[in-house]
Amino acid sequence: MAFELMKLPFAETALEPHISAETVSYHYGKHHQGYVNKLNGLIEGTPYEDAPLLKIIQQTEGPTFNNAAQVFNHDFYWKGLSPEATAPSVELSDMIERDFGSMEVFREVFLTAAAGLFGSGWTWLVLSDDNKLVIEQTSNADTPVRYGRIPLLVCDVWEHAYYIDCRNARPDYLQQWWKLVNWRFVSDNLASVENDPIAGYAQPCNDDNEVCDYVDTMQENEKTAT
Ligand code: FE
Repeated sequence: MAFELMKLPFAETALEPHISAETVSYHYGKHHQGYVNKLNGLIEGTPYEDAPLLKIIQQTEGPTFNNAAQVFNHDFYWKGLSPEATAPSVELSDMIERDFGSMEVFREVFLTAAAGLFGSGWTWLVLSDDNKLVIEQTSNADTPVRYGRIPLLVCDVWEHAYYIDCRNARPDYLQQWWKLVNWRFVSDNLASVENDPIAGYAQPCNDDNEVCDYVDTMQENEKTAT
């Protein structure tokens, strides 16, 4: 089945005055749509025709990988923006403070990294294997999910994300982008990792505590469902 362009979670005008409707129209309607169309053309008649997006990202290379990853990255980018003000969860705030010192320091470090990324790419906030918040940069279409890492937030620093509004001034775009970050989305991404005790448990959990009881029940339910 062919992939479809995700529905934008807000109107094209909703991000103004920070990101113009014209930018959203080109970025979403032309670039993002273009990746979806190219991906569909590339997988048609191949073993990946009905594969989930993540499987295509993790198993292919070249143009198929590039377009599949760009679909994922752009889906993630739009979901990470909100025209309404949002706030990080207590858990996320605590982790930002623990790993960066403060929200202000995190902002500075993240935006400096994004401004300094050479060429086209993406700046991510990722949850590392040892449960720390880290900033990761990827070039072109590359994406943390290719390597099984867990993204929480992303900023698109391809020129098509800002050239209409800011010309070549990427730092100006980053200042505007920051004002639109959907902290609820970032917090939900973090919570969905933390609330998934099934992950990492292949065997029944024998300790006598609440988490283990939950894991055992979920595993039982999964067996019954299949
Ligand atoms: Fe883009």
